[in-house]
Amino acid sequence: MIAPELSIVVPVYNEEDVLPALFERLYAVLDQLGEPYEIIFINDGSRDRSAQLLAAQFRKRPDETRVVLFNGNFGQHMAIMAGFAHVRGRIAITLDADLQNPPEEIPNLVAAIRAGHDYVGTIRKARNDSAFRRIASRLMNGLRERITRIHMTDQGCMLRAYDRALVDTLNACSEVNTFIPALAYTFAASPTEIEVEHEARHAGQSKYSLYALIRLNFDLVTGFSTVPLQWFSLIGMILSLLAGALFVLLLVRRFILGAEVEGVFTLFALQFFLTGIILFGIGLMGEYVGRIQQEVRRRPRYRISTVLEAQTQAQATEPVEIAA
Ligand code: UDP
Ligand code: MG
Repeated sequence: MIAPELSIVVPVYNEEDVLPALFERLYAVLDQLGEPYEIIFINDGSRDRSAQLLAAQFRKRPDETRVVLFNGNFGQHMAIMAGFAHVRGRIAITLDADLQNPPEEIPNLVAAIRAGHDYVGTIRKARNDSAFRRIASRLMNGLRERITRIHMTDQGCMLRAYDRALVDTLNACSEVNTFIPALAYTFAASPTEIEVEHEARHAGQSKYSLYALIRLNFDLVTGFSTVPLQWFSLIGMILSLLAGALFVLLLVRRFILGAEVEGVFTLFALQFFLTGIILFGIGLMGEYVGRIQQEVRRRPRYRISTVLEAQTQAQATEPVEIAA
């Protein structure tokens, strides 16, 4: 078997409805490209028939297909990290399984890498998602752009290409909650972006609930910047100065005009306001403390139960059987 030039990494979580269409289009594009390639599917603990479909596809195209089976759901970004750990090609391309990223764009990404870039981001020309997702995504994109030093016009699109050296660097990172395009960007020497088409999800439902999206955005901001914490300390500083001035004012008033009673409710309002700020601050601190705790534990970030791949001489493991 020749060493692959391209490695396509596809995370799969409960995608039985789209996999047949994905196989058809993805392999067709890559066969036409005429370069040695491998497609690494990571089954992220799907509870439907995705694992069986992937195993069947592996039997059909054993030379181009590799399947990493997680024994639980560790999230899209951990799945991609596991895929990266198995990449053998010189160019790695990540792709969603749901065909929102058309596989037909792959040759354009390859061309951009060959033009000398080590990181190729993408901008979706017309986005086929719900209006809520589009607006929320635009707001978060803008906020993230301000807070972190990461420049991405469209942070949400996972169809991206990475040079092998960059993938090796990512493999050396053992972050727990991460956002791969942002992590890669921080190491990229010559990043670029190209425009790509975007389609509506081919079948099935989005795997991201509103809660999961909020979590992902926290990972993206607190994982790459301490600016929110700095903002908070700044607000805290200004507020304590103002509160100090208010105290002096009340003290002076107390001696000149006597004890005031009418102002009690104003004080209550002020107290509630400060309590709100404090709670927010504790929450924000918790974000960072939580991350420290996760890093300190140094747990394995995912666990693989099986890898389906064609045997090379170096490997002497038993072939794996999976019932279809
Ligand atoms: N995915 C995954 N694990 C998860 C959630 C999602 O591997 O816990 C995969 C999913 O199968 C798909 C990709 O990540 O290939 C993007 O998910 P989805 O299309 O649901 O996200 P959206 O497009 O709605 O942001
Ligand atoms: Mg999708």
